[in-house]
Amino acid sequence: MSGVYVVLEDRNGRIGRISFEAIAAANILAAQSGSKPTAIVIGTQTEALAAEAATKSVGKVVRIEHALLSYTPDGYNAALKQFIAAESPDTIVFPHTYQVRDYAPALAARLGRVLIGDVTQIAEGPVFIRSLMQGRLSGSYKSSGSPTLISVQSGAFRAEEGQSGPAEIATFTPSIEASQIRTKPGEPFRGAAQTVDLSSAPMIVAVGRGIREEGNLSLVQDLAASLGAEIAASRPICDNGWLPIERQVGSSGQTVAPKLYLAVGISGAIQHLVGMKGSQCIVAINKDAEAPIFEVADYGIVGDLFEVVPALTEAIKSARQ
Ligand SMILES: Cc1cc2nc3c(=O)[nH]c(=O)nc-3n(C[C@H](O)[C@H](O)[C@H](O)COP(=O)(O)OP(=O)(O)OC[C@H]3O[C@@H](n4cnc5c(N)ncnc54)[C@H](O)[C@@H]3O)c2cc1C
Repeated sequence: MSGVYVVLEDRNGRIGRISFEAIAAANILAAQSGSKPTAIVIGTQTEALAAEAATKSVGKVVRIEHALLSYTPDGYNAALKQFIAAESPDTIVFPHTYQVRDYAPALAARLGRVLIGDVTQIAEGPVFIRSLMQGRLSGSYKSSGSPTLISVQSGAFRAEEGQSGPAEIATFTPSIEASQIRTKPGEPFRGAAQTVDLSSAPMIVAVGRGIREEGNLSLVQDLAASLGAEIAASRPICDNGWLPIERQVGSSGQTVAPKLYLAVGISGAIQHLVGMKGSQCIVAINKDAEAPIFEVADYGIVGDLFEVVPALTEAIKSARQ
């Protein structure tokens, strides 16, 4: 048996940020045996992805390449199953993306294993921790046997900024027949032009029901503009149609992990917190000193947002002049 592997995902020809977070999680596991993880890139042309992966904190990169490996769950699973049979990994870490949710549970079933999905923490053992019941409970999972398959939640592990390498790059060529692939790859999914990927925004100003009405949103939009931040919201704001649904943060919205998350008039319900508690610095403005958002905030301002936000915007603008 050999080591910890991490599958990296191709996002328009580059490795997506959540894959770097998966590398960080794989490093936590690999460090327990004093080794480095092996990165896996999959596709029809993986040279550039492998070169990018080789500069990260990995011991080796494997390109699983085949002309039939444009993404389909059947193709990926056939290839990974052969690779696993050849390498007998102890653990494979996946980023918890839509694509991984599409194929990895079936891969686990084919191997007679389970996928421990959406892991938020790894403790000694290793023990894998994930949220249950919309974040009200957390469950601890231990794996017996191998391979252990886990996927890690976006924002739960801090992507390693440091580069190392270049790591050795190897190629694995699976044997795949066209008849094994039951679905036809369509055009890769691209969001509408105005769709934002909040998960990669370095700064976010998020607004909640404390803003009272749609016409007041310009207050937080000015604050976001002064910082160069993306705007986001709690669910009631999006339910009201004041901001588009893709700007919702939380259990039924996006999971984000910016350097700065500024929560304005948001109470901090658990369904909101699960989407932003991985942020590096959380600043909350709320008139209720008992609001649960202050339990996760690094800095809190107890005050009326209609006074605090314009003053803050002015202060930021003049500091930036
Ligand atoms: C299945 C399910 C899924 C959900 N998914 C999500 C999700 O993805 N994301 C999400 O956000 N929610 C989600 N929710 C809803 C969640 O439970 C909360 O209802 C919601 O997050 C509350 O939004 P809020 O904090 O903006 O509003 P409120 O809870 O009403 O809080 C408003 C806050 O503004 C403060 N305030 C009011 N006036 C001012 C002022 N003048 N100055 C400063 N502060 C002020 C108040 O003190 C209060 O703390 C979900 C709920 C369910 C049941």
